[in-house]
Amino acid sequence: MGGVKVGSAHPIVVQSMTNTDTADVAATAAQVRALHEAGSELVRVTVNNDAAAQAVPAIVAEVDVPVIGDFHYNGHLLLTKHPACARALAKYRINPGNVGAKRRDEHFRTIIDVAREHGKPVRIGVNWGSLDQQLLTEMMDANATSPEPRDAGAVTLDAMVASATRSAGLAEECGLLHDRIILSAKVSGVHDLVEVYRQLARRSDYPLHLGLTEAGMGTKGIVASSAGLAILLEEGIGDTIRVSLTPRPGGDRTEEVQVAQQILQSLGLRNFTPQVTACPGCGRTTSHFFQQMAEEIQTYLRDQMPVWRERYPGVEALRVAVMGCVVNGPGESKHADIGISLPGTFEEPKAPVYVDGQLRVTLKGDTIVRDFLRILEEHVARRYGTSPPDPLSAVRSGGTTENLGAR
Ligand code: SF4
Repeated sequence: MGGVKVGSAHPIVVQSMTNTDTADVAATAAQVRALHEAGSELVRVTVNNDAAAQAVPAIVAEVDVPVIGDFHYNGHLLLTKHPACARALAKYRINPGNVGAKRRDEHFRTIIDVAREHGKPVRIGVNWGSLDQQLLTEMMDANATSPEPRDAGAVTLDAMVASATRSAGLAEECGLLHDRIILSAKVSGVHDLVEVYRQLARRSDYPLHLGLTEAGMGTKGIVASSAGLAILLEEGIGDTIRVSLTPRPGGDRTEEVQVAQQILQSLGLRNFTPQVTACPGCGRTTSHFFQQMAEEIQTYLRDQMPVWRERYPGVEALRVAVMGCVVNGPGESKHADIGISLPGTFEEPKAPVYVDGQLRVTLKGDTIVRDFLRILEEHVARRYGTSPPDPLSAVRSGGTTENLGAR
């Protein structure tokens, strides 16, 4: 799929979606690039009209990431009328609930024919907000006359699974290869999400794209998405993921990529960026200094990653600890690859630094952050680089240190 492999034998792929007018080539290409630079490995754009379809080839030409076209209602028309769009896209996402108001199967076949002609995979993406109403009505009627009727919610989830799997079967009947099909069945409730994907995983072996649809804004969207996706991913369900956050007005669209990466890294499924373990702070700390330090270190790591990723392969697995006092500070720091334990209330004003579980140096004075970042940089270069750095450069460059090497 445009250089990105999806399926059980491959790492779980992070996907995102633009919210620009696709017909606006400059704005959409800029957002696709931003999402890609943030770590999105597939980016989806809506293709909702002729202007959007005409813009797609130019957008694809300006970016370096596979672009997926999202089609509703008129995909059969747009993909046949705009072959350059059909060629440029890496994958088509279609919604069996709205692939065509009438003659649905005919329109569906048209899209599959275009996908076959251009050698493109297709995601059959069911969404409970646009579920095939004819299928749902049939299943509701059958349920109503059954000896033990189930509640409407359970039948709706069954209908989503049936819509996805039947459409996949129809796609194969139309000649699309089994391994060119991906399924999704998105709902907005965590329990429903888990249930519907468990059913999909039981009933088919197609790769699954996971996402809690309409997850919402801020903390609610992040937590709900994390809760649902974590359960499924932990069970081995899911091949691509998207976190559908609603950005705040003027907010950063790339947040959904960061959250998706963090979910995968927190579960130990992939590594994207060094992780900072920081204590929450409590009454034992006299100031917010350690919070500021944790933030500075996190920012430093994020800023360094574009260079480090190239220069130091594997650095994304680095674990850094920034702790607020002696209670858990040394212990947590020893568990990390590199950690610092700041002095809490009434503690001696010094900050021991641990590297690979051993006390490396104790920092003092006003330059603790700068000195720690220097030691961090040296550690990264030594562990992940090809040429070892000068082990005494931290001392030569003026950091206030003591006990270099051992307690
Ligand atoms: S490590 Fe110390 S400062 Fe941090 S939360 Fe624990 S007791 Fe409080």
